[in-house]
Amino acid sequence: MAKILCVLYDDPVTGYPQSYARDDVPKVDRYPGGQTAPTPKQIDFQPGALLGSVSGELGLRKFLEAGGHQLVVTSDKEGANSVFDRELPDTDIVISQPFWPAYLTAERIAKAKKLKLAITAGIGSDHVDLQAAIKHGITVTEVTYSNSISVSEHVVMMILGLVRNYIPSYQWVVKGGWNIADCVARSYDLEAMEVGTVAAGRIGLAVLRRLKPFDVKLHYTDRHRLPEAIEQELGLKYHATVESMIKVCDVVTINAPLHPETEHLFNDQLLAKMKRGAYLVNTARAKICDRDAIVRALESGQLAGYAGDVWFPQPAPADHPWRTMPHHGMTPHISGSSLSAQARYAAGTREILECWFEGRPIRDEYLIVDGGKLAGVGAHSYSVGKAEKATAV
Ligand code: NDP
Repeated sequence: MAKILCVLYDDPVTGYPQSYARDDVPKVDRYPGGQTAPTPKQIDFQPGALLGSVSGELGLRKFLEAGGHQLVVTSDKEGANSVFDRELPDTDIVISQPFWPAYLTAERIAKAKKLKLAITAGIGSDHVDLQAAIKHGITVTEVTYSNSISVSEHVVMMILGLVRNYIPSYQWVVKGGWNIADCVARSYDLEAMEVGTVAAGRIGLAVLRRLKPFDVKLHYTDRHRLPEAIEQELGLKYHATVESMIKVCDVVTINAPLHPETEHLFNDQLLAKMKRGAYLVNTARAKICDRDAIVRALESGQLAGYAGDVWFPQPAPADHPWRTMPHHGMTPHISGSSLSAQARYAAGTREILECWFEGRPIRDEYLIVDGGKLAGVGAHSYSVGKAEKATAV
């Protein structure tokens, strides 16, 4: 029988919801490209419920306890006296979400003598020290594609929010004003702008597809070119380097993983090469941008706006400069944790657990590390380097 330690974000300050804004969420069976959505044998939750917070328990308690397993759920994850650190030494399986990451550092992994499986309920396992996981024979998995479209929708929302100056205009309404000039003095149309994505993987390509109907000119850079048919369908201009792309773009969206090549890619030097007044949207990972360089670029007017939902560390401290820098449209890390996405990644987590307990293979598309090496989708998307080294905060 296993002990499962599940780290989730806190319930709403008003308490766990008793009812919801909507009665259901549409069911997605397949993602673009054909991968099937999670297929657990059963679920014990209502899709559309809040599953990612402590009381939601990812809908796992009934299933795990029926199997004789022990489930510990906590949001307390930082510091030697945290519930996470206290419970970890005899834990078999850790479940955590990128939105509220339980940083599995090499030090923590060394203390977790029984740990065999780390599940990311969502996508992005850079909070796990993959090198240490490899060394200790820990399997690392994530629920690939479960929230890729959710993130792409957030990106499009943020691009429009910045370009059209939505948030300050909304604030004038709340303040009781009717200050048209104040609102529109920074408001533009997206139409005909040059928009580029750094990486055109699952999220980047979904962003490009969603932006196409806005009659913008689309650009991308990636390590690999997309098929010619897609380039033609979307009218994409490919750039071999980030520099070549950002020089011509009015809007840049970052959709690449964090690894040594992308860490602090957007520093003072690169930002200086962008068009003055460009907008930058980063929902990938905070450390792809140099934190203070972004603040400087907004203050000088080099960037007209910055938005995203990824921070370092997470949760961001109250004095993080991205909370107060000018012309930003930041949210907490929420893009991939809509109620719609939660239903999918909770089901995916259940599928992974069912496979694990029954000794069935976990889908290749969910595997990051297995058998002492990068495996499955991880062998393609991850490298073991310094940017992956999760840092306890
Ligand atoms: P994918 O693996 O589908 O795509 C990533 C793409 O980035 C691949 O095409 C990859 O190329 C390319 N790439 C890698 N390095 C570079 C580079 N240096 N320059 C240009 N392109 C590069 O990932 P997703 O689209 O699913 O996700 C992208 C990132 O978004 C994730 O890594 C994660 O950090 C973040 N994310 C954020 C979420 C949120 O809630 N905000 C949720 C989910 C993901 P190649 O194929 O050659 O490796």
